Amino acid sequence: MTWWKAKSNQTVGVGACSDVGRVRAANEDAYGCFQEPPADEAAERLFVVADGMGGHERGEEASRLAVEVLRQTFFAARAWSVGERLRRAFEVANARVFEQAHEGPAFRTMGTTCTALALVNGHVHMAHVGDSRAYRVDRHGIEQLTRDHTLVDELRRKGVLTAEEARRHPRRHALTRALGIRATLEVDVLEATTVKPPQTFVLCSDGLAPVLDEEIREVVDALPPQQAAERLVAMANERGGPDNVTVLVVAVQ
Ligand code: MN
Repeated sequence: MTWWKAKSNQTVGVGACSDVGRVRAANEDAYGCFQEPPADEAAERLFVVADGMGGHERGEEASRLAVEVLRQTFFAARAWSVGERLRRAFEVANARVFEQAHEGPAFRTMGTTCTALALVNGHVHMAHVGDSRAYRVDRHGIEQLTRDHTLVDELRRKGVLTAEEARRHPRRHALTRALGIRATLEVDVLEATTVKPPQTFVLCSDGLAPVLDEEIREVVDALPPQQAAERLVAMANERGGPDNVTVLVVAVQ
């Protein structure tokens, strides 16, 4: 866990944990916690969770590549608005993963979800593709900030499935959007909001699905960021650990 001073006397605490789970052979999730410049109190921060897909280690390759390209692109283009920088970074990462899939004699399917949160100048900015999630936890409770890009969640939003039916649906992992699958990418760039401490942001892959939103809130409220991230991963594993699970906890005080 790292603590550091942020703009306007805000302190940011970060916890991160990623685990293969109890069923899968390899961890295809990737994550990153970056700050630029490294030792500046007014630094910009970028947090990313990516959940890769594709056989024969392609998922691992896709998620790691996406996180690295996002870091490079986001911090390189400071003249634009933060939202535009995130969108552009997602588009560049999409192109890179798409190219990688087509490199060599045989096409290899590879793609990844990607959820990114940037803290810049006391504001939180987010961009998102796929079914990894971002939550905000504060005195009002827990709120999911991202929309799952899945067939099942579309049916839930249309009222065809209840939330509980959606959570247990056998096809709940079928994505409608992912990074690296097509030459172009539709990115959700969320409207920027002012950070109002104390607030905690949680980014996670869908491996955290066995843990309910209200339980995430309880853990984040009770524990410091690193312990909270580890506890949430342990809870997913205690409930079967059906998938790779990655949790980032970003607490602004
Ligand atoms: Mn997953």
